[in-house]
Amino acid sequence: MSFEINTKKVLNKIELENNTNYINQEQLVNNVLDENLNSDFNNSSNTENIYYCEEEDLLNEVQDNFSYQIKERGKDYYYSGNIVSCSKNNNKYYAKVSGTSDKPYIVKVEIKKDGVEYDCTCPYDFPCKHEYAVLMAITNKEYLNIELKPELKEKKDTLQNILKKIPAEEIKKYLLSSKGVNYVCFEMKSFEDYFKKYYPNQTYEYYYNNLFNALVVDVNYENMIDSYINKIRQYVSNQEFLESFKILKSIINAYNDTNKLNFDDYIINQFPNLGMLLRIIYRKCDFSLRKDIKNWTLELESKNYYNNLYLEDIVIMMNLEKESME
Ligand SMILES: [Zn+2]
Repeated sequence: MSFEINTKKVLNKIELENNTNYINQEQLVNNVLDENLNSDFNNSSNTENIYYCEEEDLLNEVQDNFSYQIKERGKDYYYSGNIVSCSKNNNKYYAKVSGTSDKPYIVKVEIKKDGVEYDCTCPYDFPCKHEYAVLMAITNKEYLNIELKPELKEKKDTLQNILKKIPAEEIKKYLLSSKGVNYVCFEMKSFEDYFKKYYPNQTYEYYYNNLFNALVVDVNYENMIDSYINKIRQYVSNQEFLESFKILKSIINAYNDTNKLNFDDYIINQFPNLGMLLRIIYRKCDFSLRKDIKNWTLELESKNYYNNLYLEDIVIMMNLEKESME
């Protein structure tokens, strides 16, 4: 696979990121590489405007895929206001539909060049009433236009490459440790956790963009927060404070930038955890990261993020520690 780095893009980024004093050169290049690697995905949705059908014809186009009964139930759902939210980004739509289960079902629709794709998180295997209700809403242009960040894919490396990087002594130690001893073959999850530092790190943008998008389309962000916080913990226990801070910062910034910090119970409940982790990182990290964290809290102040009491509390605690350390 080959790709070119777009120099102008890099320069623009440097200009942008210099304001935050955070992104270093290496992350920058990785980030642009990411964007290039993902350009296929982005181009397909951004630049071409020839789609299979117009929105207003959508329902007609899909009629034959739904049974009579499902269509009737879908109509019911639509007219009873079961569609909680529906957002549009380019040619993709994301909707939440309340149904019989506690959690709303998530319906995704994409109008492509060569057809219409849709899927739903409900257990039903065939085209379902939730999808039909959402297709009705889209046909009637009942959605919110949203702008998403480029979707960045996770950077991965092959197991072969990773094994090449790990010194034999460490593998031996792992196999003899309590973590490895009970397994005849490798249990990948525990292997990955143990050798985390040999796996590629993700960029700040990877964490930020994906969480930002999940928050904007209001889909599955709770799971994402859980996995981010787990990763922060892992990195902290491996003493990789730069990585852990990167993720923590992406959570707070994504919430702030989507204006959800004051309204979402899920994140409010996580604040004691986040505050504690940030204080640990701040106390244990090296001088240059400490400077980055300090700059970030100044940035928070300048953007008047103190509208959020929980965030204010975290920053005040940080400042207290700063004073006691200086
Ligand atoms: Zn469904």
